[in-house]
Amino acid sequence: MRDDIKEVYFTEEQLRDKVRELGARITEDYRGKNPLIVSVLKGSYIFMADLTRAIDTPCNVDFMVVSSYGNGTKTSGEVQIIKDIAQPIDGRDLLIVEDILDSGVTLHYLMQILAARGANSIRLCTLLSKPERRKIDVNVDYLGFEIPDEFVVGYGLDYAEKYRNLPYIGILKPHVYGGEGE
Ligand code: 5GP
Ligand code: MG
Ligand code: MG
Repeated sequence: MRDDIKEVYFTEEQLRDKVRELGARITEDYRGKNPLIVSVLKGSYIFMADLTRAIDTPCNVDFMVVSSYGNGTKTSGEVQIIKDIAQPIDGRDLLIVEDILDSGVTLHYLMQILAARGANSIRLCTLLSKPERRKIDVNVDYLGFEIPDEFVVGYGLDYAEKYRNLPYIGILKPHVYGGEGE
């Protein structure tokens, strides 16, 4: 699996340091607020596990699964909720945790849906962002790293459901995309 990586973008140490930094900021900002921290599966599962352990103030955690539609599909919304948050969110301070902000379409619509349910506040924490790819402007409150327009894997992020368990983030060798390979 590791032979398929062309270049490591962020090592385990870099990720650990960044997660600690974000966790410390979130701890300060949410002290006494008992935030509801919501991870959008599956890509953010490792980031969520590490980030919440770097937060030193009481909080609740929950998980969502969403599927996004491109423009011009027959569905009414741009986002379909496959698995919802298991509790009411009115009056809560929500922190959405994402792996990567790309076009911004999914997050934009997801944040609208959650805002309509009467949350007291909604903030976004994303480990990665590709600003060049943005189609809809999304405000990021806690950002790990900006990256160029390259497809990255590892630390929860997949290619064809593989590579999520790599402990670092990197880009794949071109042959991996070429079809059958070992
Ligand atoms: P968007 O911001 O375009 O609505 O959707 C972002 C989603 O696209 C992410 O949550 C992730 O699932 C996927 N994605 C975008 N860029 C990458 C990437 O470089 N690597 C991987 N593995 N997934 C990506
Ligand atoms: Mg995601
Ligand atoms: Mg994926």
